[in-house]
Amino acid sequence: RAKESGRGVYRFFKREMDETIRERRTLARELRQAITDEELVVFYQPLARAADGEVCGFEALVRWKHPVRGMVPPLDFIPVAEENGLITQLGEWVLRRACADAASWDRPLRIAVNLSPLQLNQPNLPTLVHEVLIATGLSPSRLELEITESALFKDYQRALDNLRRLKALGVRIAMDDFGTGFSSLSTLQSFPFDKIKIDKSFVENIHRHDRATVIVRAVLGLGRSLEIPVVAEGVETQEQIDFLRGESCAELQGYAIGRPGPIDSLSAWTLARAAVANASEQTKARGA
Ligand code: C2E
Ligand code: MG
Ligand code: MG
Ligand code: MG
Repeated sequence: RAKESGRGVYRFFKREMDETIRERRTLARELRQAITDEELVVFYQPLARAADGEVCGFEALVRWKHPVRGMVPPLDFIPVAEENGLITQLGEWVLRRACADAASWDRPLRIAVNLSPLQLNQPNLPTLVHEVLIATGLSPSRLELEITESALFKDYQRALDNLRRLKALGVRIAMDDFGTGFSSLSTLQSFPFDKIKIDKSFVENIHRHDRATVIVRAVLGLGRSLEIPVVAEGVETQEQIDFLRGESCAELQGYAIGRPGPIDSLSAWTLARAAVANASEQTKARGA
């Protein structure tokens, strides 16, 4: 009987797995088509200087405008694209789009683009980035490439070599999701990053868990000692803004500053500046 039900469970999982594999295949096929059909869009989320609320750049975040499924978030298709290699093409498309858009802005703000592990391990990545900068006319110092530490695990030497070559172009390199990997500190030791982005899982717990608060403070101290500006991701509340500003965090990113939006919505970030500026007035009024 146990055997029977065991087999039943197996059959159940087998069916589930077949379904998952089928779904992934469909997704992969549709995604390939989406890239050629231009169903992908890049949204932009503002980053604000913590001290005065001035918007200093935007992060490019890809979305898939699926004809049936609607707006698909990146976490639903980036992993699939990473698995089957489509990420190379997808990533190149995002990079080109984001650099072209940024080059058209009337202020020379920074543009941050996420690089997947597979991309960072492509031998021709620096050449590609160089070519895109020339084609779009974007100054290298305005481009910031965000990598997570898992990007260094595939082929450590190649990844580091690529990072050095990118830096030599004048491009900035940010470490994304800091603190969530297995060896964030060694990664930080291995390369002179231009920026550290504290993962939102810590930021969201500021004042909710003592430990998170202590960790955020420690990362900010680490950044200060290493002279690497720290950005807080996922800033959602006024309380978090006040805390981070008080701890001399360099930049803030999150719904409290502005949500990711399409290129034509970017002028709305002036409102975000007002929100942060008001906060500092309030802090002053409270005598802090
Ligand atoms: P990420 O690079 O860490 O980007 C930050 C994510 O946090 C974004 O999710 C953003 O919308 C979300 N976020 C921003 N502020 C807040 C907030 O206040 N609260 C909360 N709860 N979330 C906030 P999104 O756009 O869904 O992207 C998820 C991840 O997908 C990104 O994480 C990045 O790893 C990846 N991704 C997005 N676009 C690209 C891309 O073009 N290429 C690659 N390789 N990865 C991408
Ligand atoms: Mg990022
Ligand atoms: Mg992140
Ligand atoms: Mg993330």
